[in-house]
Amino acid sequence: MTDLILFNANVMTMGSAHPTAQLIAIQKNRIIAVGKDDDLREIQKRNTKTIDCKGKTVLPGFIDAHLHLHALAESYVTLNLEPRHNVQSISDIQTRIKASSQELPSGNWIKGRGYNEFYLAEKRHPNRWDLDQVTSTHPIKLTHRTGHAHVLNSLALQMVGISNETSDPPDGLIDRDTKTGEPTGLLFRMGDYLSRKIPPLENLQLDQGIKVANDELLSMGITSIQDASSHNGIEQWKMFRRWKEKEILKPRVRMMLGIQSFSAYMKQDFETQSDTSQLRLGGVKIILDETTGHLRPNQTELNEMVLRIHQSAFQACLHAVEESAVEAACSAIEYALQKLPKPDHRHRIEHCSVCSPSLARKLASLGIIVVTQPSFIYYSGERYLRTVPAEELKHLYPIRTLLKTGVKVAASSDCPIAPANPLMGIYAASSRMAETGETVVYEEKITFAEALRMFGENAARATLDEGMKGSISPGKLADLVVLNADPTRVPIDEIKDIKVVMTVVNGEVVWEKP
Ligand SMILES: [Zn+2]
Repeated sequence: MTDLILFNANVMTMGSAHPTAQLIAIQKNRIIAVGKDDDLREIQKRNTKTIDCKGKTVLPGFIDAHLHLHALAESYVTLNLEPRHNVQSISDIQTRIKASSQELPSGNWIKGRGYNEFYLAEKRHPNRWDLDQVTSTHPIKLTHRTGHAHVLNSLALQMVGISNETSDPPDGLIDRDTKTGEPTGLLFRMGDYLSRKIPPLENLQLDQGIKVANDELLSMGITSIQDASSHNGIEQWKMFRRWKEKEILKPRVRMMLGIQSFSAYMKQDFETQSDTSQLRLGGVKIILDETTGHLRPNQTELNEMVLRIHQSAFQACLHAVEESAVEAACSAIEYALQKLPKPDHRHRIEHCSVCSPSLARKLASLGIIVVTQPSFIYYSGERYLRTVPAEELKHLYPIRTLLKTGVKVAASSDCPIAPANPLMGIYAASSRMAETGETVVYEEKITFAEALRMFGENAARATLDEGMKGSISPGKLADLVVLNADPTRVPIDEIKDIKVVMTVVNGEVVWEKP
């Protein structure tokens, strides 16, 4: 029994057998046939719903292999301090906080996120004294664009128990005034510490943010996401379950576990088997950090962590940005593979921002997947061109080199660090164009089809779902996106402006352009 047919469509199946088609037939949540409009009469039954696509292009739903949903939801219900929201100086930040403080009763937390010191006139992070000028009766927490640094005002510092006497926690760093030793309010890698001390958003408020995030993702044709937040554990799993049960989150979800929660999970499996195509665990996240000049965790610790993940049959997902961190990640995976060879391990390096051709060859030989963020080229290209040393710049996001060497590269947005729009990622990867109109390592440009595959087949493989997703072919899940233009027939500069007109998840039309 066919439930839904999309016909009169320009279907790019991304499958090897039939690259193009006109019609897609769906039964329940699966694609059952892909063919020509002539097949319509034969397949259509009395109760079959049909959608005339009027020649529009249909693609497999986009898969974003690395983003942070909780932070995205929070961004809709907290202050947005990103440069593109007209925040160009510390005084702009102060103005936004001032407005919030006038709306909120004293004692309530004011939370803001996304500030970027590179684009602030002062070229520095705000500090406690900047924030104290605005209010002394509301605690304030600002989150840096990367999520790895925070700024607190004096009241907030006091409330979370940070004073002159507080020593740095094991993985964090409390920035201090060089003369007085007093904390400046700027805290590095202390997100977990702060989340234990600062009350989270009320469920109701957070759910409001999830609804907006859901709408945003669907409007960009994203039908599957992988949440890569390093603090993910049982509490976050429960939240995802709640959002799924309330049906306020339509894209399919894979949630990575943070390394801290991994041991707890191994003792008590909390993954339910209810609907595994909607919500599953996948991957264990480890952040390799080098901001202090030393690798944390160190190589020996890292090797043991990765080995433990490898032995448990989970994927290791290693956040590594600089080349030396990528090397360390590589060594740790090599160590695990020597102890226990496994050809199809699917271990991943997240970001892999700087990678020389020789290191790319090593990644390929070890079968490591890279999960990259092509839209950073567009949104942060200007900063890269001004601040990344020439030696590193030539190996920055070397997507073409990686693909040519045989590395499987999946794409993602790292949203809310950059907007989630996959078409922007596809545009940036196939043009290497920054927002300023400058190109960023043009030699590393890839073709449109390769870029599209990074958000389809390759992302499906990176998230262990290649059997169910990544192409429009019989047997696969009915996750589709309909576009208002054929991306293969518009000038490259217009790819980023293509709009989604309809999104289908699980055989259901979940979003239509209003
Ligand atoms: Zn991330």
